[in-house]
Amino acid sequence: MKLLEERILRDGRALNADVLLVDSFLNNQVDAPLMAEVGRTLAEAAKDLGVTRVVTIESSGIAPAMMTAMTLNVPLVILKKSASRILQDGVIQTEVFSFTKNAAYQLTLKKRFVLPGDRVLLVDDFLARGEAATGASKLIEQAGASVAAIGIVIEKAFQPGRALLTEKGYKVISLARVAAMGEGYIEFAEADA
Ligand code: 5GP
Repeated sequence: MKLLEERILRDGRALNADVLLVDSFLNNQVDAPLMAEVGRTLAEAAKDLGVTRVVTIESSGIAPAMMTAMTLNVPLVILKKSASRILQDGVIQTEVFSFTKNAAYQLTLKKRFVLPGDRVLLVDDFLARGEAATGASKLIEQAGASVAAIGIVIEKAFQPGRALLTEKGYKVISLARVAAMGEGYIEFAEADA
């Protein structure tokens, strides 16, 4: 997505060799018109996949996922990050390790919002090592649904997330793929949409 790549070049900043800051349009402040375009692009790329629900992970996945769900005209379901295990009927959890935060959390789904037979488009802001997307896919499948595709706003293509997900058979749709980055430069690989 050209517009997104241009925005990353203009406002993105490599904090170090691994972490990209995009706080001015995605993580802290949200550029709503840009997210609307992200939503339209992801929805267009997934239009033949029979998507019945969009699922995302709080909090930075919500803006792009909401716009995608709106274009596809399907419900949006939010997976919460809980500090501890919740022993409650109807809730399923899996542990995810966040390398950016250097901490583990319990990714949590209220099962009644993802139904057996649902075809889910999973949407997240970043793909790095694939831990979050793997955990989310596991919960979606435990609920009896299938993952139609994984839509990513920014993939760091130099990290192993994409390979991990495609090896498991998931279709990954990344709108921007950062091939390399460092102080003062960001380079892209070809995106999926
Ligand atoms: P993964 O689980 O694929 O290793 O990491 C994905 C999650 O970590 C995303 O949901 C995102 O919140 C966070 N993340 C990973 N890398 C970055 C990054 O470079 N910048 C930002 N802002 N978040 C990241």
